[in-house]
Amino acid sequence: MKYEKEIARRRTFAIISHPDAGKTTLTEKLLLFGGAIQVAGAVKSNKIKKHATSDFMEIERQRGISVATSVMCFEYKNILINLLDTPGHKDFAEDTYRTLTAVDSVILVVDSVNGVEEQTRRLMEVCRMRDTPVIVFINKMDRDGKLPFDLLDEIEKELNIRLHPLTWPINMGKEFKGVYNLYEKSLQLFTPNQKSDEENTVQIPDINVSLLDQKVGERDAAQLREDVELLDGVYGALDKNEYLQGKVAPVFFGSAVNNFGVKELLDTFIQIAPEPLGRSTDKRFVEPDEDKFSGFIFKIHANLDPRHRDRIAFLRVCSGRFQRNTFYKHTRLEKDVRFSNPYSFMAREKEVIEDAYPGDVVGLFDTGNFKIGDTLTEGEMMQFTGIPTFSPEIFKELINKDPMKTKQLEKGISQLTDEGVAQLFTQHGGNRKIIGCVGELQFEVIQYRLLQEYGASCAFMPLNFYKACWITGDRKKLEDFVRFKQQNVMEDKDGNLVYLAQSEWFLNTERQNNPDIEFHFTSEFK
Ligand code: GDP
Repeated sequence: MKYEKEIARRRTFAIISHPDAGKTTLTEKLLLFGGAIQVAGAVKSNKIKKHATSDFMEIERQRGISVATSVMCFEYKNILINLLDTPGHKDFAEDTYRTLTAVDSVILVVDSVNGVEEQTRRLMEVCRMRDTPVIVFINKMDRDGKLPFDLLDEIEKELNIRLHPLTWPINMGKEFKGVYNLYEKSLQLFTPNQKSDEENTVQIPDINVSLLDQKVGERDAAQLREDVELLDGVYGALDKNEYLQGKVAPVFFGSAVNNFGVKELLDTFIQIAPEPLGRSTDKRFVEPDEDKFSGFIFKIHANLDPRHRDRIAFLRVCSGRFQRNTFYKHTRLEKDVRFSNPYSFMAREKEVIEDAYPGDVVGLFDTGNFKIGDTLTEGEMMQFTGIPTFSPEIFKELINKDPMKTKQLEKGISQLTDEGVAQLFTQHGGNRKIIGCVGELQFEVIQYRLLQEYGASCAFMPLNFYKACWITGDRKKLEDFVRFKQQNVMEDKDGNLVYLAQSEWFLNTERQNNPDIEFHFTSEFK
């Protein structure tokens, strides 16, 4: 095992949350601990504030920020941490889902006032698909939120995961006094807007000592004793393996904006979060400690400079060592490629790197060779799996508004859909082009970028489809189906057949009438 040490010191994760729960704030505090930034306010929120129909500047701003903060890499206590950013806006949820395929664990931020929200639920579903280990940070304890036991109950029920609190809050809102660390048996006192440090930490050898009453008052001390007794009875010690298997999520309480409870979170994170894990391919499972390099592309970002058509592909290294100026096999295209300027995202500067190890994310300049999910190896013909394309929910027909620019439009739409901005379906045996997205905002992005980057103007005609399903099965049966349902059968970019259903009723009827055909809701069905 050549690179054991390098692997052991890496952790790659993402912070996920419903917008406004405090992801940006928490990210910033973590980066401050890692010394990656010096001042608060350096991390810009990348959320799109409004849903304006023509706010292109906002889209551009979003793109600029999101490339700058796509990966944040910092060192803390000798551990190299790769923090992958995930867009908060739900219209870009697919981007987030794909990013989650490149991490080994996540920190989920829950707002103590709002509890579990829509995006929290969706994001956790994706984590559950992959059994990704989760640590929960319950934020905004300085506000009057839901009661801690109620919050735990709600999260367990709604997200279908067992929780295990590692700290416990003493009151909340204006009365918030701090948290009790259930494992170190120490009390961390809360002072708004101050860095929590050792001075604020009081060791409590036994929860019954009067020191506790002195620090938080008799009433709260009594309540804490009662809570802790209950918690000890219910939870016992954290089983790290259950966490690593994604069955149990440790929970921390705190206030990100006050930098309270964040250090405890980070210290525990580096102790228990998994090292870079292996990944499945269509041929075999790849272990991180294999000598030979392999990795996959999980995100593609267009260059911000409209004069250059090149893009940045984000590669997650899965095994071995990636080296600059070395030929690797692009297994889908079956060709050898090499990179003279691969870069890492250390601190805020992009810097060219010589090599990278499992868990690392490398930015590669791409002139149109990559699609999401593409695999690079030292020659072995395999393809990483588990990077699904989800069934889109909004469908529009692409209308060319400038016949002189047909070529540009075709090229543009092809490249943008490679990037994963949307999905392109082409009429089976025809030329109609349908774009499928999960959010309206993506159509705006496409229209805007086609014009800016490719000089092509288009319009979108809304279509009344409910869902797109990939269909597989007996060849003869498929042919019959396609013949009868010509209007509803499309091909995706890889030539797979896709059935577009007008409604749930149609979908169910077709499924009943065609028992020999399988209908899939993600493209990962190989
Ligand atoms: P994101 O959308 O999840 O990235 O959320 P942000 O980090 O941008 O935070 C949303 C809002 O919540 C901002 O106004 C923050 O200042 C505020 N916020 C973050 N953490 C806390 C906290 O611990 N307490 C309170 N009261 N507000 C917070």
